[in-house]
This record gives sequence, C-alpha cells and structure tokens, in this order.
Amino acid sequence: MIPESELMALKAVILRMEETVPLTKVQLFHMAKRRKFRRMRPNEDTDEYREEVARNRKKWPIKNTFHPRNKSHPVYGDTHYALGFHVQSLNDELDNWFTVGADSPPHVPEGRIKVILKRAKDMELRNRFVTAYDKHFANFWKPPINREPSGDKMRDSLQGKIPRLEISVRDIEDRGDGKFAYGFEFHCCDCGGWMLDLPDDDDGPVICVACEQVFGSFADMKALASHIGNEKAKSLGLL
Ligand SMILES: [Zn+2]
Repeated sequence: MIPESELMALKAVILRMEETVPLTKVQLFHMAKRRKFRRMRPNEDTDEYREEVARNRKKWPIKNTFHPRNKSHPVYGDTHYALGFHVQSLNDELDNWFTVGADSPPHVPEGRIKVILKRAKDMELRNRFVTAYDKHFANFWKPPINREPSGDKMRDSLQGKIPRLEISVRDIEDRGDGKFAYGFEFHCCDCGGWMLDLPDDDDGPVICVACEQVFGSFADMKALASHIGNEKAKSLGLL
C-alpha cells in the first residue's frame, strides 16, 4: 500500500508539470551555454581557488548524498519501491530544470514512479502521470540519430555537435586565386525543413524555421559547412 501522503505529493508534482509552461528549446540551449560557462570560469582554474575549495571541504565536509542504490533511507527505508522518495527526487530535479536546465529530463525518478504505480495497479494515476510528464517534456526528447560513420573522422566529430542538421554543397563558385565560395543546402532531420534561423553571433543557436528545434551553435554549423565544402572541392580536384 502506498501511503496517502506520498500519493498527494505525486499529485502535486503532476500538477506542477501540468501547470508550468515548458521551457523552450532555445531557453534550454542558452541554459546549457551558461552551465558550460560556469564550469569554465577562468578565475576558478587557479591553484589558490582549488586550495580554498579544499580548505572549505575540511570545514564543511560534503554529506554523502543519498542515492537510490543505497538501500536504506532515514524516512523511506528501502527506496526501491518508495514512491515518496522518487517523487521528492523528481521535484528536486524539476527545481534544477527550471533554474539551470539539464542535459536531459529527469528520466530516473520518472521510470521508478511508473514502475511503482504499475505494481500498485493504480493505472489511472499512472496514466495521468505519464501524460503530464510526456506532454511537459515533449519539446525536449528526440530519438537519437544513428548515422553510419562517413569514414571521415573530422566530419563525424563536427557532425556530432549538430546531429540533426544535414548539410550538402549545392554549388561552388571559383573566386580565383584558389579561393572558392560554396552554396549550401540544409535539411532538418526531423521535419525536412530547409530554412534556418541564424543568430547574430557565433555562440547563438541555429534554429529550424519549420519545427523550431535548435540544431546547435552557429560556430559549429560554420565549421561543419566549411569542412564539407572543402572536402567537396577536393573531390572535384579543385583544391
Ligand atoms: Zn525542422
């Protein structure tokens, strides 16, 4: 039997997902940029800073944070089938999601909650939870793209940064002195759209006009495009 208080907590989280406006892909893209920036702050890359962190660790040692694999929890006991525990961690992950974003939606507590509700045969609540979760994160989740390796490592690694955009060379214009201008064709892997919304600066997102997904940063797109252009020119014997 699932305690009534834990079911109430779950209903509150469901309501939170239903009532909160989902983040857009563009917002998540900018949050990811900020998280990377946070990790790379140059004044943290010094010995003084690391020593200070080590001193503070001694003063305030980090408590062992609880992990679902640690079987016993002071409140929930065995957490494997403790709904309240996973509802709490889903709620915490949602707090993070809305403040700093994350690389992926909170799949771990979601999976546990689904299993526990199925086991308790509460299919009505389970369906409501699944619907709210899927709807809230619908913008975000995309099936991975399995590309055959092209045999060109450079190309594969550049393509890996913007996996959902296909770029091909439409024409090559000889500008003289061994310089070439390339015309490209673009193709969105999800909707087939070919128009891109380009940002003003290199760090900004390249967006599909048709389905509004973020492909990646402008700098990554330009790097891949120029690589593809140069390879095409080489294959035609121009370079
Ligand atoms: Zn698209």
